[in-house]
Amino acid sequence: MRRKVPQQNDVGEAGASASNFIRSIIASDIETGRTRVVVTRFPPEPNGFLHLGHAKSIVLNYELAREFGGRCNLRLDDTNPAKERVEYIDAIKRDVQWLGFDWAQGLHFASDYFEQLYAWACHLVRIGKAYVDDQSAHDVREGRGTLTSPGRNSPFRERSVEENAELLARMRAGEFRNGERVLRAKIDMASANLNLRDPVIYRILNASHPRTGTAWHIYPSYDFAHGQCDAIEGVSHSLCTLEFEDHRPLYDWFLDNLPVPSRPRQSEFARLSITHTVLSKRALTELVRDGHVAGWDDPRMPTLAGLRRRGVPPEAVRRFIRGVGVSRANSTVDDGVLEATIRDVLNERAPRRMAVLKPLKLTIENYPAGRIEEFDAPNHPTDPAFGRRAVRFSREVYIEQDDFHEAPPHGFRRLAPGREVRLRYAYLVTCHGVVKDAAGRVVELRCAYDPDSRGRASAGGRKVAATIHWVSAVDALPAEVRLYGRLFSAAIPSPTDLAADLDPHSMQTLRGCLVERVTASDPHGQALQFERQGYFTHDDESRPERLVFNRTASLRESPGKPPTAHLDLLRK
Ligand code: ATP
Ligand code: MG
Repeated sequence: MRRKVPQQNDVGEAGASASNFIRSIIASDIETGRTRVVVTRFPPEPNGFLHLGHAKSIVLNYELAREFGGRCNLRLDDTNPAKERVEYIDAIKRDVQWLGFDWAQGLHFASDYFEQLYAWACHLVRIGKAYVDDQSAHDVREGRGTLTSPGRNSPFRERSVEENAELLARMRAGEFRNGERVLRAKIDMASANLNLRDPVIYRILNASHPRTGTAWHIYPSYDFAHGQCDAIEGVSHSLCTLEFEDHRPLYDWFLDNLPVPSRPRQSEFARLSITHTVLSKRALTELVRDGHVAGWDDPRMPTLAGLRRRGVPPEAVRRFIRGVGVSRANSTVDDGVLEATIRDVLNERAPRRMAVLKPLKLTIENYPAGRIEEFDAPNHPTDPAFGRRAVRFSREVYIEQDDFHEAPPHGFRRLAPGREVRLRYAYLVTCHGVVKDAAGRVVELRCAYDPDSRGRASAGGRKVAATIHWVSAVDALPAEVRLYGRLFSAAIPSPTDLAADLDPHSMQTLRGCLVERVTASDPHGQALQFERQGYFTHDDESRPERLVFNRTASLRESPGKPPTAHLDLLRK
């Protein structure tokens, strides 16, 4: 077989997404001389696995940087050791690479800058723009006010520079308990923007950090870390999702008030949402924690690890993301768009195999016992580069239970008593007997083959209405096959009661399936089309002595779905 699993980092497929407003911003910044080198970053927090929403951010950031001849950093935003783990850091690196991007130009951690960030906090204290607040978290929150009422100044707001400096140093030294004090920026408690009402910039957290261990007892807030990390790395364009739009004035306030080495610019775009899917680490963490799925890489999960395990090629994810585009309007994409993209990519690259998921034995009574013939079958219907393989045929073969009907309803064209069908690549066979078990179920078919029909569509002027797939007793290996459907039956799962919206039939395990022997040596990661069944791939657990396949996608959209599943603006 010539086609191989796609190589890592093969993102050479044609052009990035169509034009978008962020590209226009960058182009104009270059034209006016504001930006000389385009630097972007993808800044995941290592508190879970990456999902399709992150893929949108990855593709956007990496492709814009490449398009403008710049670079994109992978920056782990590891400022909250309470939730972050080395396991997640490793998974993020693996998944970014799988998606085809790499961080050769920059792998950074917010924790690399802890010393600098702390120095800048001290700077704010020195210029009278930050203070240590002894209020409880509850009182800080209460004092913030609401959208309609202004906040209240903290009783600690007017502390002297000296006292603030000393308390901050003691916070760092670990002299206080968690939550006992915070450092706040001194901005404006009456601001219409709640983010500017003296936001917390350092909190006490006596926790061990995956990278800095116990060196720190205080950790910077997201808002205090993010823009400054961007500035340290020379990021020119800091792209984030719309919920950070209200944080932009704060992002800019820090850059205005600190001696940062560069001036990044934040732009916001709409998050990716997909029907029947949740794209939030909080929700996905809950699914894993509560055992609704087998883990972060459960093939039903919208995580990159789950998609990979299910057999989705990274190219399909990139194509999907490019197709969705980038805008400032929140919208929800129909999950059929993702499935259709996956199917298109798999159709191009999956060698064909035969597999019988629900076997029914068929004995060809006029075929000599012990005789074995080999049929030459193409691995792909249109692309000869996939090569060919030999399929072995014998007196006993297995067909799909669904391809036989004892009393065929109108319109059923496949096998039935007295009917003739073609066994793909092999012979025409006619059914003339049915064997049943004690319960009356059909357990075996008795057939005769036409020796003159070898490899032909018709014989003796007779036409057959159907061609069905099969595996022979001498070429079949047992396998387990896992079929996946949507994890959620609700189009928009409820964020507050995920469990209620789960589809109880999202996974079906078929045992006693039979696959062509050659599939045992098809490499893991290789997409396969089981003819007439769909696209499959070896599960990570699959072993030569115990084959397990995951269905990546069916061949067609499931019935009952609208035929044109395109961008569906379900909510604004
Ligand atoms: P989640 O909501 O899943 O917890 P997050 O924003 O907290 O996501 P981060 O690890 O902080 O996760 O995000 C890293 C980057 O990915 C951020 O720039 C964030 O804006 C972006 N991102 C996260 N979810 C989406 C999404 N659904 N669509 C587009 N970008 C996203
Ligand atoms: Mg976040």
